[in-house]
Amino acid sequence: MKMSRMGARPEKMAPKDAETINHKLLVQAGFVRQLMAGVYTYLPFGLRVLRNIEKIIREEMDAIGGEEILMPMLHPAEIWKKTGGWDSVDILFKLTSRTDRDYALGSSQEEVVTPTMKEFIRSYRDLPRMPYHIQWKFRDELRSKSGIMRGREFLMKDMYSFHLDQADFDRFYEIAKSAYLKVFSRMGLDAKVTEASGGDFSEKISYEFEVLTDAGEVNILYCDSCEFCANVDDLSNYKEGDKCPKCGKSKLKPSVAAEVGNVFDLGQKYSKAFDMKVANDKGEMIYPIMGCYGIGITRTMGVIVEKFHDDKGIIWPKNIAPFMVHLIDIKQNDKALEIYQLLQAKGIEVLWDDRDINVGVKFSDADLIGCPWRLVVSEKSMSTNEIEVKARQNDEPEMMNVESFINSLKSD
Ligand SMILES: [Zn+2]
Repeated sequence: MKMSRMGARPEKMAPKDAETINHKLLVQAGFVRQLMAGVYTYLPFGLRVLRNIEKIIREEMDAIGGEEILMPMLHPAEIWKKTGGWDSVDILFKLTSRTDRDYALGSSQEEVVTPTMKEFIRSYRDLPRMPYHIQWKFRDELRSKSGIMRGREFLMKDMYSFHLDQADFDRFYEIAKSAYLKVFSRMGLDAKVTEASGGDFSEKISYEFEVLTDAGEVNILYCDSCEFCANVDDLSNYKEGDKCPKCGKSKLKPSVAAEVGNVFDLGQKYSKAFDMKVANDKGEMIYPIMGCYGIGITRTMGVIVEKFHDDKGIIWPKNIAPFMVHLIDIKQNDKALEIYQLLQAKGIEVLWDDRDINVGVKFSDADLIGCPWRLVVSEKSMSTNEIEVKARQNDEPEMMNVESFINSLKSD
């Protein structure tokens, strides 16, 4: 992509109303624009990051048997009244049509997925089933000032699972947990899993996937030697300095964390509410056990900016960066075009700052946008075929042959 052709570009100054790093950097670097608190437009850079996050999630959900569908956001009030959510879910956006009918904007999809799957799941032979979708959702938040980390409108992946019995849910939870940890690790995040109470969804236990960051809103205790992690806002059984109850090797450390994913054991709450009965292998009619599995996509993008940045801008992990390479030409010449076309031909996503502006601005914009590699084409490149290569997190560039650079990316 050529920057000279783009409408959305980085700004010199951060927005004055931004209270969080992700809001400040994402607006200044030209990834998003805020329409109102908690509601954002995703500009070309921002949309590319969302698509990269979606791709990782889609691959891992498909790998564990998920089947992708797309459910609507506009729901009739009746399905929410059936489960009690119309009155009990305080963040549910409600609206009335001109024919005086009540509707909800989806904050979750149990009320849609359960009656839909009821049509297809009739016996134990049809179980388990794991439909999932990637869709915008709505929450009527009282306060929404955490940038894209807590939106009133936000993009989520949610998967729902249907099982013959509790043992099969427990078996699948372990598979889903591994897939979730893989998703976050591919995004460059080290996620920890905590157990918590089920909130609005059920009395049963839920699992939260937390990323350590000062921008989070959850207090946790974790162990350095094993995967033990507890949410101390919900579970007060542990305190700082306690010996790890799982491995006994290290003392529990406190941290602030942000939730990026969750799993709820829904039990039979929704299968009973929609009278979804399935024949077991003895011919008896039973209510399936359900689970739901969320990953906040726009939220995770915000958490990544909070975790990976410096005073110059964002430092994107390579798997979700909007472009792998940010190409800069010091003087506009044919060599830059040649390298731009070569990188594209090799399948490397490249942003070319071909604007006729001060090169200092090009350098500071490259740091702000945060692509993993910055390439500079100078006068010298014309004769030597060497370019200046700098990783975003490093201070010092090095001179490299174009082909060697491409080969190093391919073998990475
Ligand atoms: Zn431990």
